Amino acid sequence: MTSIAFIGLGHMGGPMAANLVKAGHDVRGFDLAAPSLELARQNGVATYPSLSETVSGAGTVITMLPAGKHVISVWQELMDAVSAGTLLIDCSTIDIDSARDAHALAAAKGCPALDAPVSGGTGGAAAGTLTFMVGGAAGVFALARPIFEAMGRKIIHCGDASAGQAAKICNNMILGISMIAVGEAFVLGEKLGLSHQALYDVASVSSGQCWSLTTYCPVPGPVPTSPANNAYEPGFAAGLMLKDLKLSQTAAQTTGAATPLGAMAAQLYQRFADEGVGEKDFSGIINMLRDKPDT
Ligand code: NAD
Repeated sequence: MTSIAFIGLGHMGGPMAANLVKAGHDVRGFDLAAPSLELARQNGVATYPSLSETVSGAGTVITMLPAGKHVISVWQELMDAVSAGTLLIDCSTIDIDSARDAHALAAAKGCPALDAPVSGGTGGAAAGTLTFMVGGAAGVFALARPIFEAMGRKIIHCGDASAGQAAKICNNMILGISMIAVGEAFVLGEKLGLSHQALYDVASVSSGQCWSLTTYCPVPGPVPTSPANNAYEPGFAAGLMLKDLKLSQTAAQTTGAATPLGAMAAQLYQRFADEGVGEKDFSGIINMLRDKPDT
């Protein structure tokens, strides 16, 4: 089995690389942050002082980085460090243009490539239960599937280059909008004297049912495992939701798609983040809706 080089060993990349080790892969890792490297070493990842040493001889390189500019910068550096034929996979959530640029870099070098963003958060990364949404040629997807299976449970081929990022951006736009919708319904219910539990009992088995209600209920009580029961500790931080909503709005502007609710959701999450609570779970936006209705 050829080795896998993993670049970006943060909250997501760290546990993902650890799961590749657990599955029996020879994993090499690189990150700019010393604490991430140390943790990776403890999990059985071999670390190197530079990107080029990390990827040298690896059959596959995976990147899990904050944003498009980091991915492009690392992939440009990779082009001098890997040989043609090396499988390149980016699992970061990034803008569509950067994803396409990354595919173009790989094609020019003769490297098969996939965009493969994930959902499932840090819990899913640790448990190896992530969902991978993958863009790229079908043959390359088939080649990479066993690698994804070591880190995830659902692996979906969405189409050609950048289709994985497109699916991720669209899914998270639904999520951002639906969380605001559920929050608004609970706030209106409160004003009408309706208990949280009664609204939950009805909506969770009626046409208002959705993930934001039944898995991530934004009020404490009805779903004991939701972040609302833990002072809105993430979970999925509001700042990350804002990042993904901004990506959806960039894509909407580029393509001319009408996404008025997506635009409004991005504005509301921007305001939430501006209040200094971007580190809190994104479901905490209900408190802004309740306490500052004029915002
Ligand atoms: P993170 O900030 O914890 O990790 C990113 C890592 O990349 C950091 O350790 C950083 O040091 C490293 N890095 C940055 N530039 C680098 C470079 N040039 N070379 C090597 N390492 C570099 O972020 P995260 O939470 O792990 O998220 C990573 C990606 O996954 C993001 O695109 C994010 O949107 C996406 N994502 C995150 C979650 C989540 O719940 N955290 C869920 C789904 C998707």
